[in-house]
Amino acid sequence: RDITERKKAEERLAYLAQYDTLTGLPNRNLFRDRLVQAMARAKRNEQMMALLFLDLDRFKEINDTLGHDTGDLFLKAVADRLKGCLHSIDTIARPGGDEFTIILEGIDHIDGVTTAAQKLLNAFSAPFVLVEKEVFTTPSIGITLFPLDVDDLDTLLKTADIAMYQAKHQGGNSYQFFSAEMYSHSTHRLGMETQLRRALEREEFVLHYQPQVDIKTGRIIGIEALLRWRNHELGLIPPAQFIPIAEETGLIVPIGEWVLKTACAQNRTLQDAGFVPMRVAVNLSARQLRQKTLMETIARILGETGLDPRYLDIEITESMIMHRTENTIVTLDQLQAMGIEISIDDFGTGYSSLSYLKRFPVHRLKIDQSFVRDISIDLDDAAIVTAIIAMANSLKLKVIAEGVETKEQLAFLASLHCDAYQGHYFSPAVAPDALETMLTRVPRPS
Ligand code: C2E
Ligand code: MG
Ligand code: MG
Repeated sequence: RDITERKKAEERLAYLAQYDTLTGLPNRNLFRDRLVQAMARAKRNEQMMALLFLDLDRFKEINDTLGHDTGDLFLKAVADRLKGCLHSIDTIARPGGDEFTIILEGIDHIDGVTTAAQKLLNAFSAPFVLVEKEVFTTPSIGITLFPLDVDDLDTLLKTADIAMYQAKHQGGNSYQFFSAEMYSHSTHRLGMETQLRRALEREEFVLHYQPQVDIKTGRIIGIEALLRWRNHELGLIPPAQFIPIAEETGLIVPIGEWVLKTACAQNRTLQDAGFVPMRVAVNLSARQLRQKTLMETIARILGETGLDPRYLDIEITESMIMHRTENTIVTLDQLQAMGIEISIDDFGTGYSSLSYLKRFPVHRLKIDQSFVRDISIDLDDAAIVTAIIAMANSLKLKVIAEGVETKEQLAFLASLHCDAYQGHYFSPAVAPDALETMLTRVPRPS
């Protein structure tokens, strides 16, 4: 009996090593084997083979709204439907997440691939019925032809992925054939992406801090943590250039966690060194806000670093609260319940209405730099800032003006009774040791 049990267990392990248990489709390992075989066959028979990368558009949203169990059912249903579109000689695999890979063999003409891709798209025109709910989704499909486009395994996989992203960038629900042009556009990006994946373990990130200053007293009341990336090959890369890539690839989650941990730890270190306690503001990306585990992560980081939650301020952008409202409110409520403050970054750029904002547990608005820039000369900008401050007052929200660079801008903001500001006029974001020289120590009892 022991032997049969062991045999069963071994068989099970062998299965798990090759198949995705959810859909029963080949997993990444088996898929690679099949791809190698298909490439060899295509060479031998002097025929073409196509590799298709299919990724579901907005699957994350579906998963978040319906829950993981329904998300699993959904993936299974998608797998079944895709299988129904293919010939018996074709391979379909699920290497992970909402990604499916398909190998089409024995192709004589590119039209055959187009027909197959169109058939796959059509398969999504009817809804998926899950536990009495109808769910719609669309796919983005990237296609590479072998040996026409490329002739080695890794490039084949990479180019199909690039083509898939191209399809996504064009709004999804479409297929794209890989073209050499796409490759040159994305090689820079690919290089950056590869480097970005290694940046955390190589400790290439640092945080700089920009002081936030109370306009009435001139005192520093908080600091904003701003991420900096130093890479030996790419140099110093500004966040605007790599954060979108980190978002798309999901790398923003571990990077963002590093930012939270480092900012909390450094703030606690400042307090321990005898500086007057103040808030540290951390920018959160949309993807982090959607993470189910965000709350646990933040609670754990606060516990580990020993930072009092009231000294943490989470910045989310106005456009982030405009989407997926209900879930966002729940998350923000939880943050607020923990004692954390919430600021709306880049305010004024997202056209939020007053009534809209009332629904969110927000403490502070940060007026976007674009309004501050010409505040003392442009009447429209001045009117907008005046309105934002009045609105914030009536909602009992604090206001910080961003990107203040001149004495005139500051004077104007002071006349409007704006609470605080940050900007180069006081200081740009600086390294922690430079920050210390600006901070005040708690007076020692004599
Ligand atoms: P943000 O949060 O709105 O940050 C303000 C940006 O304006 C910062 O640029 C800051 O250095 C810059 N700035 C501040 N004062 C002035 C000024 O007087 N004049 C000018 N010209 N610029 C000023 P930075 O550090 O390049 O960050 C850009 C954006 O990158 C941030 O905008 C934020 O959206 C994002 N970011 C930065 N760090 C993080 C992070 O840790 N996580 C996430 N998710 N996003 C981050
Ligand atoms: Mg910010
Ligand atoms: Mg901003």
